[in-house]
Amino acid sequence: MIAINKIREEKAKFVDLAQKMWDYPEVAYNEVKAAEWTAEMMKGYGFEVEVGAYDLPTCVVARYGSGHPVIGLLGELDALPGMSQKLQTSKEAVVPGGAGQGCGHNLLNVACLAAAVGIKAEMEAKNLPGTIVFYGCPAEEVLTGKVFMARNGAFRDLDCAFAWHGGMANAIGLGGGNGLNSAIFHFKGRTAHAGGDPHNGRSALDAAEIMSVGANYLREHVTSDIRIHYSYKEAGTAPNIVPDKAAVWYYVRGASRPTIEETYNRLVKVAEGAAHMTETELEIEFLGGCYNGMANEYMAKMTYELMGQMEKPTYTQEELDFADALNKQSPNYEMAMASGMLAGGPIMTTLAPMVKMMGGGGSTDVADVQHIVPCIMVSTATCNAAAPGHSWQITACAGHSIGYKGMLFGSEVMAAAAIKMMEEPEHLVAAKAEFDEYMKDKTYKCPIPMDIPIPQPQK
Ligand SMILES: [Zn+2]
Repeated sequence: MIAINKIREEKAKFVDLAQKMWDYPEVAYNEVKAAEWTAEMMKGYGFEVEVGAYDLPTCVVARYGSGHPVIGLLGELDALPGMSQKLQTSKEAVVPGGAGQGCGHNLLNVACLAAAVGIKAEMEAKNLPGTIVFYGCPAEEVLTGKVFMARNGAFRDLDCAFAWHGGMANAIGLGGGNGLNSAIFHFKGRTAHAGGDPHNGRSALDAAEIMSVGANYLREHVTSDIRIHYSYKEAGTAPNIVPDKAAVWYYVRGASRPTIEETYNRLVKVAEGAAHMTETELEIEFLGGCYNGMANEYMAKMTYELMGQMEKPTYTQEELDFADALNKQSPNYEMAMASGMLAGGPIMTTLAPMVKMMGGGGSTDVADVQHIVPCIMVSTATCNAAAPGHSWQITACAGHSIGYKGMLFGSEVMAAAAIKMMEEPEHLVAAKAEFDEYMKDKTYKCPIPMDIPIPQPQK
């Protein structure tokens, strides 16, 4: 296959870009270098490139071709704070407290980029009509990058889209994943000497604590898909000063936008009640939200079948030993042993069964794209089979040949599936029919209102 040959020929360049992003991890909305390197490479491959697309300074869009079908590939650029890790099998940061590729987005970005390059080569050779659009998306880790992009018009012109994520297994998910709303509740009170004149104080910390008591009672009276988490951002300075400022950051997760919005609105009432009780002022900083996952089953099954027939990566003894050493230090090791996850070796080489997940778990802003066009997320093994999510082990593998092998396999799978959709139009028709049926009584309503500003790079 031309696309796959092209990906293999250009392998060194792709690995080099992924390595650069691993060496220089940038957190959400600060992916300045990653965006620059990505844009440069895509220009070199003859794509029409825009940096700062949809008013997001670090968003890259690279297009090739014209007309339909228009197929999107969703790369991601951001690293995780606190995930710095050396390329070794014991936990040690390169920069203590620094950022690192703890979710492997260096691989994610390059897997989608390389797929686009491969698809372009095949389109050129065969004169295939259509357009390929690669997105270097900022800020997936804060779950708002693609949502801001969607708010400002992205993805509407696509016929379908592919996302990819490295992980423990070679697999394709069928839905699942919660949507969420994220907001910081700021309370403002009046300071006073806690011993001398407490009657003059109005404690913002009291308001925050009462809000959390209310939220914890609310938990009992919501549907079982709802998850509410919070963390204190600000809670006063010293016990003898009545805190005049406090802030709590909340996530409300759920299996559908209506349940998320309903619960979020009730949480706002809880916060207002807390402010009322403590005579403090409430200000809500709405950070964003995203949809629940909704993979296109037709595309997932078609791609899964292709993936099953494709050549999987094989590993050297050094790679297997590296993964084995990591597995043995994982808190998931016992569970992975018991469940047979390690039966095939320290890195998964087989295809995991396709299972339909119903809600639950974490969130991703890919879900918003899944509510705009038919879209799936492909996964390939890029780390040791027992690695915990968002961990130093993932960072280590994302800079290792284990990660690069999975990344390139992911590119090949996406390229093969995209070409199939270009050459055999009936697949797109079927994927669209399923999507239209699911969306027939829904419309995509962006979870982030127009007046919320797009975060800017901090450097
Ligand atoms: Zn991720």
